[in-house]
Amino acid sequence: MNTNSRMLVQSGATMLLAMVLTTTAFAKPKVTILATGGTIAGAQSSQSEYGYKAGAWKVEDLINAVPQMKDLADISGEQVVNIGSQDMNDEVWLKLGKRVNEVLRSPDVDAVVITHGTDTLEETSYFLDLIVKSDKPVVLVGSMRPATAISADGPMNLYNAVATAVDPKAKGRGVLVVINDYLFAARNVVKINTSNIDAFRSPNRGPAGLANTGKITWFEVPGAKRGKQSEFSIDKVNELPRVDIIYGHANMSPDLITAAVANGAKGIVLAGVGDGNATTPAIDKLAEVAKQGIVVVRSTRIVSGLTYRNNEVDDDKFGFVAALELNPAKSRVLLQQALLVTKDPQAIQRMFAEY
Ligand code: ASP
Repeated sequence: MNTNSRMLVQSGATMLLAMVLTTTAFAKPKVTILATGGTIAGAQSSQSEYGYKAGAWKVEDLINAVPQMKDLADISGEQVVNIGSQDMNDEVWLKLGKRVNEVLRSPDVDAVVITHGTDTLEETSYFLDLIVKSDKPVVLVGSMRPATAISADGPMNLYNAVATAVDPKAKGRGVLVVINDYLFAARNVVKINTSNIDAFRSPNRGPAGLANTGKITWFEVPGAKRGKQSEFSIDKVNELPRVDIIYGHANMSPDLITAAVANGAKGIVLAGVGDGNATTPAIDKLAEVAKQGIVVVRSTRIVSGLTYRNNEVDDDKFGFVAALELNPAKSRVLLQQALLVTKDPQAIQRMFAEY
C-alpha cells in the first residue's frame, strides 16, 4: 500500500470511529412501558362526569398521548393487564414481577416504566422493590384523573416518569413512584387522599425527589435493602402465601382472626390502634394463633410513626413481629415474601428491620 492509500484508509477509519462515537453519544435510552390499567388509562363517558372506568385505554394510546416522551427515550410498550388496581392480585404480581425481571435482563432495555392504578400502587411498587433483580430504574406511575378528564394529570405524570427513568441518578435507588411532581421510594409511599391529584406522601421520610416538567431533583438515597441485595425471589414461585390484614377498632372481637386462620391465612397483619395495639381478647387470640405457627405482625392504622417492638404489647412473650416502619399494606407484602423463606418470627423480625 502506498502512502496515499494508507492515509485514505486511516482517515476512513477515523471517520467511521467518529460516526460510531457520535451515534453512541446521541443514542437515546430505551424505555419499556408496561401497562396494567388504572385511572391513568381510564375513560369517562363525558369530560365533566364524576364516574369513569379505570383501564379503558391501551398502552399505545398512553404513549401516543405524550409524544414529547420520544425526545427523552426510545419508547416501547406492552400491555400486561388492563385492570383497576383495586383488582390487583398475587397472580398479576407474579406475572408482572417476572416480566419486569425478564425485560430488564435484556441489554436493549435501560429502564422500565409501569402504568398502574393508584389504589394499590403502594403495594405493587413495594412488592417489585423486594423481588426485582436489577439496578436499572423501575418507575411506577398513576394518575388521579382519567385520561379523558379536563386537566388530566396522567400525561405529565407519565412524561415525568420517563424523565425519571432515564435520569442517570435513578439507577440503584430501588423502585420509584412518580406522581404529581413527586418522586417516592416504593417502600415509603402511601396514598393519603381519595380524589385530589396531590394524593401521595411518604409520611415518615418525605419524597425521594421532585420532578418539574421532566427536570429531576434527587433527595437522600433510601437505606433499606432491596433489588439485588434482596434475599427474596419469585423465579420459581407460582403462588404466594395468604396473608390477611385485620383492622383494629374499639370493641374489637377476636372473630375475624379466627375466620382468617380457618380460611387458610398463614400470616396475619394487625392494623392496630395507636402503636399497633388491640383489645385484650384480640391480642389473646393473636397470641393463640401465633403459638400454632401463624405469623402475626403488629402494624398500625395510624398514618405516621413506627410500630415499635415490645412497646405496649409484649412481642417477646406472645411471639409477634413488630412492623416498625411498614404500614399494614406494606407489611402484608413483606410478610408474603418472608413466608416463602421462613416461619420463624425472629428471622422475620430481622427482615422487617432490614427491608
Ligand atoms: N381505582 C383506580 C385504580 O386504582 C384508581 C386510580 O387509578 O386512581 O385503578
